[in-house]
Amino acid sequence: MDDEDYEFETRSIHAGQEPDEETGALMTPIYANSTYVQDGPGDHRGYEYSRTGNPTRTDLEANVASLEGGEYGRCFSSGMGSINTVLNLLEAGDHVVASEDVYGGTHRIFTQVYDKYDLEFDFVDMTDTDETAAAMKDSTELVWVETPTNPLLNIVDIDATTDIAHDNGALCVVDNTFATPYLQRPLELGADAVSHSLTKYMGGHSDVVGGALVTNDEELDEQFGFYQNSVGATPGPHDCFLVLRGTKTLPVRMDRHCENAAELAEWLEAHDDVSRVYYPGLESHPDHDLASEQMDDFGGMVSFEMDASLEETADVVSETNVFTLAESLGGVESLIEQPATMTHAAIPKEERLAAGLRDGLIRASIGIESVSDLKRDLEQAFEKSLN
Ligand code: PLP
Repeated sequence: MDDEDYEFETRSIHAGQEPDEETGALMTPIYANSTYVQDGPGDHRGYEYSRTGNPTRTDLEANVASLEGGEYGRCFSSGMGSINTVLNLLEAGDHVVASEDVYGGTHRIFTQVYDKYDLEFDFVDMTDTDETAAAMKDSTELVWVETPTNPLLNIVDIDATTDIAHDNGALCVVDNTFATPYLQRPLELGADAVSHSLTKYMGGHSDVVGGALVTNDEELDEQFGFYQNSVGATPGPHDCFLVLRGTKTLPVRMDRHCENAAELAEWLEAHDDVSRVYYPGLESHPDHDLASEQMDDFGGMVSFEMDASLEETADVVSETNVFTLAESLGGVESLIEQPATMTHAAIPKEERLAAGLRDGLIRASIGIESVSDLKRDLEQAFEKSLN
């Protein structure tokens, strides 16, 4: 299909996919092959070896690229595989500026894996563009943006941050995992590339781990492809099939995630046991106006703080029945977690507290269940856990 002629909802179902010419199979088959017959030495039909390319992966790459409004897509065996690929572009001595409350695994790969290869990382409050600009150095080659941030749901101005990166000759890459292209398209706002954990909303059913990079820059895509093949963090065809099945329903799922999250955020904000709610859709959110401009809706993640100890907060997240105590996010089922001991435990305590991730913080991925059941579930968990 010619992408430009179709709306997001249509592309999510059809982009990158045509019925199989030989059999008429409607869905992209799972091409369970490591290798492919060649018609003569070096004379192949587009595929030689599945680390380098696989037809199921090709369809997924085209689908994700189309949704992000990008020309080129590359898929990986995890979101960390995509992030690693971006870091592969850098050289010893290069400097990276990143949002201070990035996903814990992103912080870990930056500071515990690449730090030892003589790359330098600075974490700044990217909601303040002056702070981002002040962190730039001659050696800055990459600005890594996460928005909404994890888990405080801060909003970074993609347009302005991209300008800062470009004025300094650096690339700007946006991790769009939380928003998905249904709600936010960073390439349209000037970003050089978008990174995804497909494990989350894109897959949508908590049954697969995957990652993606999308760009409009052919040279950058070639580099991504070189490292994708050289490092080998590529997804298997079954995984690609599952994500392709997920992206077909992305728009309807996201609508319901957003609706449920907005209602729960308002309910939590009015609740006596809750001291603060982090949700960009709330008017009380400091970046609500920017979120309204930059995003089409506010997403399915809600974080909130209770005046409670680490132990009491642990009780709350353990006492829920509908919300499942688990890391990750973006599936149809609601998940709840305590960042201090779970997703963000890899960040040293002092740094974690300085970034505002206090012990009483709870992060919830709001699923698409009945919102009244979700409220009742939290209410009974609060009653059981708080004195
Ligand atoms: N980026 C964000 C915002 C995430 O939340 C995660 C995982 O939770 C990742 C990247 C890493 O993705 P994966 O777990 O698929 O490797």
